[in-house]
Amino acid sequence: MDVKRWIGNLVRGKIWRDPIVSFCSAESTEILPRIIPNHLTAEEILPHAKGVIVYFIPFTRWVVGSNVEGERPSKLWAYAYLKTNKMIREINKLISRKLENLGFKCFATEPTHDFDEINLMSRWSHKHLAYLSGLGTFGLHTMIITESGCCGRLGSLITTAEFDWGEPLKEEFCLFKRGIECRKCVERCFKGALNNGFDRKKCYSTLLENSKLFEFFADVCGKCACGVPCSLEKPV
Ligand code: SF4
Ligand code: SF4
Repeated sequence: MDVKRWIGNLVRGKIWRDPIVSFCSAESTEILPRIIPNHLTAEEILPHAKGVIVYFIPFTRWVVGSNVEGERPSKLWAYAYLKTNKMIREINKLISRKLENLGFKCFATEPTHDFDEINLMSRWSHKHLAYLSGLGTFGLHTMIITESGCCGRLGSLITTAEFDWGEPLKEEFCLFKRGIECRKCVERCFKGALNNGFDRKKCYSTLLENSKLFEFFADVCGKCACGVPCSLEKPV
């Protein structure tokens, strides 16, 4: 089952680079409710789940470059965000159809907005699943840094099919976490939401302010992810 090829056949065009795919076992998701209040396990969402397919769709340099200047997100960045969320739904439909034809069950998770409105914590965190599957590691900006950087979108799908389950990477990708001077993401957040750890409320209020900027609704920012060493690749 060549999931990467299935996804790659859909992800084409000027705003995306090649997707990265990895897998984590259902068992490994049992740790998540212990570290994130209200988070669910794969088994709670899909009984008899064997694991989760996790994938990252990286944005192109064009999209990332458009969001470097200024305090507000570029229209292209907002467009890429919405378009990729739509693509993730299509990818999940395609994978579900293919796996269900082979007799497996699937649960396609939503690309975004699956979080608790009070504590702003996710009930199904694609970032933590990406970490568990070895897709990348957490950066100081709390985003996942993959071999293709952190600018892009994550998607996931729970299934009863078996894959080669990955595990967390041993190596940190974030420069700061490797003991190397960086903190560029902290400097890039003009709201100061990364000054003392991650201030979820400050960040979320910025997203809501930005959602009024365009004729379409897109609660985006991404300033801390653009124009930094981990934007487009694993930083060296
Ligand atoms: S900008 Fe630097 S410190 Fe921030 S997440 Fe990227 S590598 Fe880590
Ligand atoms: S997304 Fe924007 S507001 Fe949130 S931490 Fe990054 S730069 Fe700051």
